[in-house]
Formats: sequence, C-alpha cells, structure tokens
Amino acid sequence: MNYRHIYHAGNFADVLKHAVLARLVTYLKQKDKAFRVLDTHAGIGLYDLSSEEAQKTGEWREGIGRLIDAELPAPVAAILEPYLSAVRDLNPEGGPEGGLTHYPGSPKLARMLFRPQDRLSAMELHPDDYEILHRLFDGDFQSRITRLDGWLALGAHLPPKEKRGLVLVDPPFEVEGEYERLVDGLAKAYRRFSSGIFCLWYPLKKGAPIKDFHEALKALEITKMLCAELSVRSDRHITGLAGSGLIVVNPPYTLKGELDTLLPFLKTRLAQDRFASARCFWLRGEAPLNRGP
Ligand code: SAM
Repeated sequence: MNYRHIYHAGNFADVLKHAVLARLVTYLKQKDKAFRVLDTHAGIGLYDLSSEEAQKTGEWREGIGRLIDAELPAPVAAILEPYLSAVRDLNPEGGPEGGLTHYPGSPKLARMLFRPQDRLSAMELHPDDYEILHRLFDGDFQSRITRLDGWLALGAHLPPKEKRGLVLVDPPFEVEGEYERLVDGLAKAYRRFSSGIFCLWYPLKKGAPIKDFHEALKALEITKMLCAELSVRSDRHITGLAGSGLIVVNPPYTLKGELDTLLPFLKTRLAQDRFASARCFWLRGEAPLNRGP
C-alpha cells in the first residue's frame, strides 16, 4: 500500500468528486429521516496543504486553488455552495495562496454537512492513515472509523440500519484490475442495498479500459446509473492522471442537470491544456420527472 492521498488532496479529481459528494449529501438532507454515508476508502480525512507532502506535488493549486477565489456564475455558485462552504469553514483565518491551508477529505466533508441524526462509517486500511483518521473522529458518536478492507465493507456493512444513504467507493487504483473490482464490488453491494446511492470514482489516463468498464457496468442489473467525466489535459504525453470519472447509481433526480451546468464550467476553469473535455450521460436509465428525495 504505497498510495497516500496527501500528495493529491484538493487536486482537480478531488474537486469533481467532492463537489458531487456534497451535492449527494445535501440531497439526502431534504428528508428528515436519518441516513448513513459509507466511505469504503476514506483516507485521513483532513489534509494540511502546507505539509511537505502536499507542497511537493502542489496538485491542489490546479484544483481547489483555482476555484476558491474564482468568480462563479450564479448557477455554478449555488451548486458548489455546500462544498466550498465546507472548505472555507476549515480555513477561517485565510493564509497564503488563496487562504488555503486545510482541505477536507471525503469523510470529513460528508460529516461537516451532517445533521445530528446522520451517521458515517469510514474504512481505511493503511495503518498510519487509519490512525490519523481515527484520531480525527475520536469522540464523535456520529462516526465509526474501522480498519477494514473497504471491499469487504461493501458486503458486511450493507444495508445500513437507517436503510437510506450513500456509499462512496474511491480506491487508489495502485494495483491491476481495479476497474473490474469496482464493477464486482458494485454488483455485490447493489444486491444488498438496491435503494442506496452509490458513487464510484475512477481514473482517466492513457490506456485505461474505460469502454470495457462502462460496458461491464451496463451489463449489471441496475436501472439508474449516471456517468460524469472530466479530463483537464490530453493523456498523450503523460503517464499520470489526465482526468477522472464518477459513476452515480440511483442519482438524485436533480444531479444530471447540476452536472450539465457544473462540468462545462470546471472544464474551462481547471483546464491544463486545450484538450480538456467533460461529459455527463446516462449509462443506464433516466431520471423520472417527479421523484422526491
Ligand atoms: N476518499 C478519500 C477522499 O476523497 O478524501 C481519498 C481516498 S484515497 C483515493 C484511497 C485510500 O484508500 C487511501 O487512503 C488508501 O490507504 C486506502 N485503501 C487502499 N486500499 C484499501 C482497502 N482495500 N480498504 C480500505 N482502504 C484502502
């Protein structure tokens, strides 16, 4: 386990993932009934952007760093409000470089948006990262942090006892076969919790088997599946990340419209070359017209 998210926290891929996560949690709050967020690959929860690791790559400067002080068109500002408010709340004093020193990872961001009745279950397998995450949530009765293989949690922790909620699956993609694992993991989890919202993250990079991945997802017995992808640069001359994608199962009926507004803005704002691109489409099904939360 070599992957450490501190090197990438707040980068362009985090921006899309966390903006969507904040939308999903906001949507779940439309009903009073409690919900649970299950975060299978949680990371350390709170990232120090002034740390040696984050400064070494500086990836956040091309992600949240380009957004936090940007002039936003009103519809985009409304969509990003829960996400950017959380980031600002963590940086009340301001500071150098756009005033950012802290950045919330997925479990922290979700937790910041909770009401008293909502719950978090977060899994992290790396021993050091687990310790840090566990300490961050120490004493928080709304959160349960477990050192467990997140893929196992998709079986053992579903369905949640609240019977409402969101499952984020955000693996590090440091070993072969993670796309296939995502498909298998989703199939297993959906069988146990077919009314849940699922959000899966995947990388876009040269040679990635995206077509096969999408075809395998389409072959699952899942009726509503939305795909959002954002590439900030061409993958031709780089081996690293050119972009990232999200699969959202059972998306809120508003999400497609929000992404149709957000993605073109992010594409322009986060572009690193002229090949930046974005798309949002239904892999399976379409949202019904009048579905509540
Ligand atoms: N979800 C986090 C966020 O958005 O802030 C970032 C997570 S990072 C991409 C992936 C994390 O998964 C790493 O912290 C890594 O240590 C952890 N990890 C790797 N394999 C795991 C596994 N099998 N089960 C749980 N965590 C795992």
